[in-house]
Amino acid sequence: MAAVSNHIPPDLWEECPSCHQLLYSKQLADEQWVCPRCGHHLRLNVWQRLKITADVGSFEPWDDDLPLVDPLNFPDYPPKAERAREKTQMNEAILTGRATLNDISFGLGIMDLSFIGGSMGWVVGERVTRLMEQCADQRLPVVIFCASGGARMQESLISLMQMPKTSAAAGKLREAGVPYISVITHPTYGGVTASYTFLGDIIIAEPQAAVGFAGPRVVEVTGLEMRPHVQSAEFQYKHGMIDLLVNRQDIHRTLYRLLCWFKGTSPVNAANTANGRPALVGELDE
Ligand SMILES: [Zn+2]
Repeated sequence: MAAVSNHIPPDLWEECPSCHQLLYSKQLADEQWVCPRCGHHLRLNVWQRLKITADVGSFEPWDDDLPLVDPLNFPDYPPKAERAREKTQMNEAILTGRATLNDISFGLGIMDLSFIGGSMGWVVGERVTRLMEQCADQRLPVVIFCASGGARMQESLISLMQMPKTSAAAGKLREAGVPYISVITHPTYGGVTASYTFLGDIIIAEPQAAVGFAGPRVVEVTGLEMRPHVQSAEFQYKHGMIDLLVNRQDIHRTLYRLLCWFKGTSPVNAANTANGRPALVGELDE
């Protein structure tokens, strides 16, 4: 008689970091990694985000061969980047390229916090800049999912220079009359917040996403006090910094409707009402 295996695959279950409910991984993926018990939006990697955003097989990467820049010969920086590559199966903290969403072409950028904290060095800034410039030339709307701890300290001033560079690229999109949609996900801080995140023509955020310039740990060092909810998507929405606060499960539908609106076409009903759930707040008017 064959022995019965007691082995349970380690990725079969996942614990919600908010309510600590043990969740079946497949069910969680079906729910787009939103906890069905408490509504917490779990952190996504770039491949999970791509899967729930773009049409299957439509993504075409751009500028994925840019080399790491290490102007200061910063200790342990190249090996750290190499370890991040192995861990994330990405070669930098952002993936950029062209994709389609319900057959509408657009430029897509997705940041991943697990690659050196989603920090912005030369490669990240250059990819964002090239994405925006190429989309301005090709008249493709741009969607960027932001998630970042801020500037990449290993690249010092080179990192900070990415802020005006990406801001200028966003300006080129605006001059060309090409729309740019920024989607804030948890957490988005520092130089990324202070440049292209808040330069979107339309700024969307996922619920409970932390967003701000100096994160809580930096504020703590200054000895100043800040109410924690100030750096929340809800607070920023209430005070006019964010246009739409949208549940993750409604972001695909919201982007589709926006892309149709920009294109001057009507959304197809089936896709428009894909899951039948209303957006949390700030639902677009028909
Ligand atoms: Zn939960």
